[in-house]
Amino acid sequence: MAKKGRVFSGIRPTGRAHLGNYLGAIKNYVALQDDYDCVYCIVDLHALTTVEDTVNLKQNSYDMALDLLAAGIRPEETILFIQSHVPQVTELHTILSMVMPLGKLTDLPTFKEKVRENPNNVNYGLVGYPVLMAADIALYKSDAVPVGIDQAPHIEFTREIVRSFNYRYGTNVLIEPQMKTTEIPKVLGIDGKEKMSKSLNNQIEIAAAPEETRKRVMEMVTDPARIKRTDPGNPDVCNVFSLHKIFTPKADVEVINVECRRAGIGCVDCKKQFAENLNKALEPFRARRAELAAQPERVTAILDDGASRARAIAERTMTEVRAAVQLP
Ligand code: SF4
Repeated sequence: MAKKGRVFSGIRPTGRAHLGNYLGAIKNYVALQDDYDCVYCIVDLHALTTVEDTVNLKQNSYDMALDLLAAGIRPEETILFIQSHVPQVTELHTILSMVMPLGKLTDLPTFKEKVRENPNNVNYGLVGYPVLMAADIALYKSDAVPVGIDQAPHIEFTREIVRSFNYRYGTNVLIEPQMKTTEIPKVLGIDGKEKMSKSLNNQIEIAAAPEETRKRVMEMVTDPARIKRTDPGNPDVCNVFSLHKIFTPKADVEVINVECRRAGIGCVDCKKQFAENLNKALEPFRARRAELAAQPERVTAILDDGASRARAIAERTMTEVRAAVQLP
């Protein structure tokens, strides 16, 4: 079946993926393969903007690749690779950085957020983060980029930079990508407060052993007003319930919804039920992951092949870009 175009997305090599990564990005990556030619990149260069100690960068990139493949990325059709294996992206990044005023970059809300998060490490690369992202998207002539609504300014920025480049050099070499807005659920961590994140240590890793998953689930914060087993709870403010809605059969969710409100079910039993359903849902993924992990040379070969296919597209684009810029 003819595909609708090319989709590009980059994912940070944060190591083993957690539920937030899975529900917020990876699941969508897998689904998009049915309709689009997909180019997925593990953005190790982007990671350098905030990661100072790179001792785990290689392993984290590899683990992310394992998770993506085990989750259902099909490398025979989808291009999966590591960003730094395609050096053309840094060349395009340099060229694009000349067409964007600095003030626009420092005004981006995402930049301001990063400065708040890392006040002692506001490096030059952090300012150029969206330019590198634009370079990635433009390099592969991507028609669309799947994003959550909070990422919209970055894609709008990419469109702007592509327009500026094409206008300055009187060309139409680069393509303005469309935004493929995706509803990305905000997955809270086990603290029930912050977005799930490895840096906050509130994550549930999808590749964890069932016992470890159970342990993390039992640590989850529930309705804070429910102190005693006999207190009625409110599932609407409970993170366990939000996740039940994704992993538990609908009829059981309905029962929990009713029983929680009249203290008919306790949080311990409710969490046990969730852990069981979550482990069951992740079973096929974990089996595939274990199989792949036992063949590291296969994963490396997939990434090498992805990089080689990505470089072929990238070099074609750069030949056109260099000609448009009239580089000698
Ligand atoms: S019973 Fe379940 S839904 Fe209700 S507060 Fe406890 S964990 Fe949350």
